[in-house]
Amino acid sequence: MNLVILGMPGAGKGTQSAFISKFFDIPHISTGDMLRHAIQEKTKVGLEAESYINAGHFVPDDVILAIMAERLAEDDCKKGFLLDGFPRNLVQAEELDLMLKKHNLKIDHAINLSLEQSEVVKRLTSRRVCKKCASVYNVELLGSDICPKCGGEIIIRDDDKEEVIISRLKVYTEQTEPLVKYFSDKNILFEVDASVPIDDVWNEIKKMLEK
Ligand SMILES: [Zn+2]
Repeated sequence: MNLVILGMPGAGKGTQSAFISKFFDIPHISTGDMLRHAIQEKTKVGLEAESYINAGHFVPDDVILAIMAERLAEDDCKKGFLLDGFPRNLVQAEELDLMLKKHNLKIDHAINLSLEQSEVVKRLTSRRVCKKCASVYNVELLGSDICPKCGGEIIIRDDDKEEVIISRLKVYTEQTEPLVKYFSDKNILFEVDASVPIDDVWNEIKKMLEK
């Protein structure tokens, strides 16, 4: 079973990906992990990606695609895989399809964890971190500005400020909307309401994938 998971930051993609990967025994392949893996293994494309990152640039589509090709050729992907953070635009999606087609493979389902933007903003702006020990908290649950673990100061990371989050979401939506339509046109898109509790989201996904 070859899967793609989509969802705004804060929609619970990491959590649901871990559930899917464990239950269906398929590797969870995220762009970040993929890049780290290729760089660590010092593959040709890994070294190339590293040079972009070290220079402070984004890693271009063709490099990402080359790393993907290497990763998907590994043994653990034979029974299927779950892609997270890739494809992130229409070009990558089309190239991925071509790449899979060469091996008589295809994406079976694309899962989209959908969440109202206002809810995403609410979830992300309630995140706080300890300046001293880096523990992460939810401001509503914490109810204090002192870290219960180490007594350090609780702060909002720059990344979690509302205006930063809104601009990140705008970029995400612009890139992802054509992608959602692409999978929808192929009749492989599965929309999941991510506003409900984590276990309910997972049950919904499991039920669909077990069919
Ligand atoms: Zn702390």
